[in-house]
Amino acid sequence: MGGPVTLIGIAASPGIAIGRCWTIDRRKVRTPRRKLLPEEIDAELLRFRNAIERSDRQLAEVREKVEKAEGTEHTAIIDMHRLMLKDEMLVVEAQRLIREDGVNAEWAVKRAVRKIKGAFRAVADDYFKERRADVDFVGERVIKNLLGEAVDVAERPPDGAVVVAHDLSPADTALLLHDGKVGGFVTDAGAKTSHTAIVARALEIPAVVGVGRISTLASRGDWIVVDGGRGIVILNPSPGERADYEVARQRFLEQEEELSRLRDLPARTLDGVTVRLAGNIEFAEEVPSLLSHGGEGVGLFRSEFLFLGRRDLPGEEEHYRTYRRVLEALAPRPVTIRTFDLGADKLPAGQRDHADNPALGLRAIRYCLRHPDMFRDQLRALLRAGVHGNLKIMFPMVSGVAELRAAKRMLAEAREELSREGVETKVPPVGIMVELPAAAMLADRLARECDFFSVGTNDLIQYTIAIDRQNKDVAYLYKPLHLSVLRTLRFICQAGREAGIPVSMCGEMAGEPLYTLVLLGLGLDELSMNGPSIPLVKKVVRAASAADGRALLERILTLTAGDEIEREVRSEMARRFPGLLEAEAAVGPVAG
Ligand code: PEP
Ligand code: MG
Repeated sequence: MGGPVTLIGIAASPGIAIGRCWTIDRRKVRTPRRKLLPEEIDAELLRFRNAIERSDRQLAEVREKVEKAEGTEHTAIIDMHRLMLKDEMLVVEAQRLIREDGVNAEWAVKRAVRKIKGAFRAVADDYFKERRADVDFVGERVIKNLLGEAVDVAERPPDGAVVVAHDLSPADTALLLHDGKVGGFVTDAGAKTSHTAIVARALEIPAVVGVGRISTLASRGDWIVVDGGRGIVILNPSPGERADYEVARQRFLEQEEELSRLRDLPARTLDGVTVRLAGNIEFAEEVPSLLSHGGEGVGLFRSEFLFLGRRDLPGEEEHYRTYRRVLEALAPRPVTIRTFDLGADKLPAGQRDHADNPALGLRAIRYCLRHPDMFRDQLRALLRAGVHGNLKIMFPMVSGVAELRAAKRMLAEAREELSREGVETKVPPVGIMVELPAAAMLADRLARECDFFSVGTNDLIQYTIAIDRQNKDVAYLYKPLHLSVLRTLRFICQAGREAGIPVSMCGEMAGEPLYTLVLLGLGLDELSMNGPSIPLVKKVVRAASAADGRALLERILTLTAGDEIEREVRSEMARRFPGLLEAEAAVGPVAG
């Protein structure tokens, strides 16, 4: 055991864990390389087939164990890995390499995996990085089986232990969690969208991923502190650090406890204005966490996540099952499913947008209207699933009425098609994301042709101030309280109100308590955010009055510079809600 070492990683799931390390050796296997003699080839092909079958049996066993313990909540990813074991790119390619290049099966698998990953490499997106990791997990399992090495974590960590590993496959995570009470997770690899991170958030287990070298520094039994809200890990903490974190942990738990008491209380202001606090989700697995934080529905389901990282396109049936699962889990609460926001950095594996300005290119509704067969599959799945809950459909990146009409026409056609097939459907409310300045300027006209608006501030701010939301160099200009943004928001809300349609906000701005009073002043009907952000926003709503929000809004609209506006809002919030901004800091940045 050495002295304290502090490491910074990615804050994957909030909360503080203090416990002993349970290290798992998940380092990469060394893949042997050998040239085969021609007479060895048939035997090698058989050895390869056997390893594939063994891998599939192991995954089937993991799946069965997990399903027995927790139902099918976390089995989808294991199913996906089983499908990869049948993928032509892996199986046919490895067989070809054995047969034609005469390489041993281990090496053939390694090369096939490298080729598949090459298809993902072009895209600098966390989600794709993670799907590359999925291909690695599957390839590694086959190689380990060929080498006769242990494949799955066999031992259970003691309750409260912190699992430390280079990386964890979804199968590892599922096995570790299915009957134990893990205190936290720390991994060298991974991103916010890696499976371990998603599951950790869903089960509310503190986790820090992407730490870099924790697995080489930690030994089993070492003390470790995991601050999942800030992405900090302290290995071998000093007694002082342990005591400090014990206090912070206690405070976090008390705050959670206090906030969870708010769960079933309405988000109503002191002067009687109610706003719906809903959740943004990317996966069905996030629903339990959303409900436990008091989510009153889903304000944004980013349906395109079903596409990412795979080469086969999900068909109508798969869409239908996913939507139905979310709708049933939340019924009778509303679930707003956004049609695919594909394009730019979000494309199915192997496809790449080569345009000079992909953010201004064939994205979202434009992409869907250009690929009508794919869009029709989704619309049919949505309409079929709609009878199982309270569905709302929302189109992203609408720039004008022509696109809205075209999308609505396709929805009507899908409905007629289903009705000809004898399938009953309901007419769902249809809304649009207002996330382009063009749509904002036309809000009064668009409001006549749809049932609701949802303001996507992430893109609206990007396009209004002309700052690429992924570009660190201009991040300092990203100002939700920029006067241009405030004026735009006011115009959208007024247009919605005059047309009598509800206006929601689902960009990150909606989940930031600093802005809650301003948003109340704008008169938004719904705020949709990551589940863990809901309690704090609700706390502000319940202690605020909409009239004060309106007064604050009027006041800041008379100011000009963004910094001046922000200073004014900060000081007003600090005065009205003392401790709020510190409470936010103690809980740490919200995952998502
Ligand atoms: C937005 O643009 O604000 C939004 C919610 O959509 P996304 O972040 O998925 O682009
Ligand atoms: Mg957007």
